[in-house]
Amino acid sequence: MLRRLLGKVDDGRFGRALAGIQAGWQWECKERKAECVERYVKHGNKQYMVVIERRGRGGSARCSCEDAVKRGVLCKHIAFAAVSELAAAAAARSAHRSCRC
Ligand SMILES: [Zn+2]
Repeated sequence: MLRRLLGKVDDGRFGRALAGIQAGWQWECKERKAECVERYVKHGNKQYMVVIERRGRGGSARCSCEDAVKRGVLCKHIAFAAVSELAAAAAARSAHRSCRC
């Protein structure tokens, strides 16, 4: 589902999310439920709230930034959150234990 969501992110925004990983963007898991993930994405002095819903086909996501709110697109923060969620899930699987957040 997260990969399907990432498939809907345009190349430019996906690239900026990857650049964010290199730049050391932080994320903080606020709440993790079976049906959704809520987290803060932080870079510099900015902080955005990202919510990824797992319900429905392909799920849906929203972010508090201007790009997502005004244009209604999947922004770089959503892409970043989805990539880091996939990374955390993969790390948890390979470590044979669940995520601690
Ligand atoms: Zn955003």
